Amino acid sequence: MKEISKKIYVKESKTHGKGIFALKNIKKGETIFIIKGKKINFLINNKKQAEIAGFNWIGFGKNEWIDPTNYGLYLNHSCNPNSAIKGRVVVIAIRNIKKGEEITFDYSLNEADIFWHIKCHCGSRNCRKTIKSIQFLPYKIFNKYKLHIPEYFKKVFKKFNISNFKNLKDLQNEWISFIKKDFSV
Ligand SMILES: [Zn+2]
Repeated sequence: MKEISKKIYVKESKTHGKGIFALKNIKKGETIFIIKGKKINFLINNKKQAEIAGFNWIGFGKNEWIDPTNYGLYLNHSCNPNSAIKGRVVVIAIRNIKKGEEITFDYSLNEADIFWHIKCHCGSRNCRKTIKSIQFLPYKIFNKYKLHIPEYFKKVFKKFNISNFKNLKDLQNEWISFIKKDFSV
């Protein structure tokens, strides 16, 4: 067990590897930590590219991720999260968090790579089992967390939600032509 800040510390998580835990009670709306790391500019237009992408990257904007160097590395997914990203890098509590509770985050709210998916074993009653990017998020969940979804990802959801397309292939084609536009390294 290693203390890394006043509000949180890192230890083994029940759900996935290491996790971040509350060192004390944290109130709804409070800043928990700031994500630090290197900004990555990367085009993910097929499965192979998606596999090259870092497992710990956190979505930031169009073709942009942060490769976290601090607590962001240990922020685990939950389908019933208690934190969200405000703006682009500030992790805030979206409900009161009790001392000892794991800090979790819904990765779908900040991920637009349509080739990305992970299996989830978070144990929440509303667990989605397979976690995908925001284009596949059910409207019900989008509306529930709308206040906590960064502007870029809100736009992506509205324009590229799977329900706007005939099938997955159509979404893929439209999405890839969107991300290829003005992509620069
Ligand atoms: Zn889950």
